[in-house]
This record gives sequence, structure tokens and C-alpha cells, in this order.
Amino acid sequence: MPPVEPSPFEKRATEALRSEGLRITGPRLAIIRTLAASHVALSVNDLFKGAGGPDLVSVYRTLAILQKAHLVHHISLVDGYLACQVEHESDAIEHAVCEKCGTVTEVPVTAETKGSAQSALESSGFRAKEIRIEISGVCAQCSA
Ligand SMILES: [Zn+2]
Ligand SMILES: [Zn+2]
Repeated sequence: MPPVEPSPFEKRATEALRSEGLRITGPRLAIIRTLAASHVALSVNDLFKGAGGPDLVSVYRTLAILQKAHLVHHISLVDGYLACQVEHESDAIEHAVCEKCGTVTEVPVTAETKGSAQSALESSGFRAKEIRIEISGVCAQCSA
């Protein structure tokens, strides 16, 4: 059987972990592959169980590094983690979550969209550190 070529996500993810000085252990690889295969945001618990036995701290650490490298997003609406579906350097991406199947779609959000929220807040004296937009609804497949 020929060796399986790792997916682009797996390559980028293992590079990110190595550059932070982490070894690519079996459980870490399992976390990366579980994330790569899912269109649904996965909870820390899902990943912990799927990885077959690393400690929880190791799962959090792996996720933190992948998040820093913009390879994984935390979807606060469902408190889950999702492998990035498109390569993008910036954080100008928000996520739409399907209420029926949980599929997450990445949505580019322009600076202007956030800027209008920013200026509304500034006039009330609130200093925003981060603005996130949460979108929930029904995906194309579920509404067909
Ligand atoms: Zn992304
Ligand atoms: Zn759906």
C-alpha cells in the first residue's frame, strides 16, 4: 500500500506544532486529522475522546497553537473548534453556523462592517477590544 499523502491542513498544522517545539505524537496527529475531517465545530471533549488518550492540557495546548497559526477557529456560538477551510492571514472572517446540521461556513467580513459597530460604541465611550459577529441559520443543504 503506498503511503498516504498528508492533507494540506495536516502539513500546515504539523509545521505549526513543530515550530512551537512540540513533537507530533499519535494523539496530536489524531486531533489534527479529526479536525481536518469535520465540517462541524468540535468540542474539546470530542477531540479529547477522538484522540484516544492524551491529557486534556495537551488538547488545549495543541488547539491554542493551531489557533495562533490561524489554522483553527474557535466558534463561540457552539463553543467548538473548526479547521480553517480557506487559507487566510487575517481574522476578517466570521462564521455562520447551521442550526440543523451544525455545518460551519466561513464568511469574509469587511473592515467597514466592524467599523460601523466600532464607531457606534466609541460614541458611547465604550472601548472595544474585539468585535465578533455571530451568524446562525440554516445551510443550503438543509434548506433544500
Ligand atoms: Zn478560516
Ligand atoms: Zn445544515
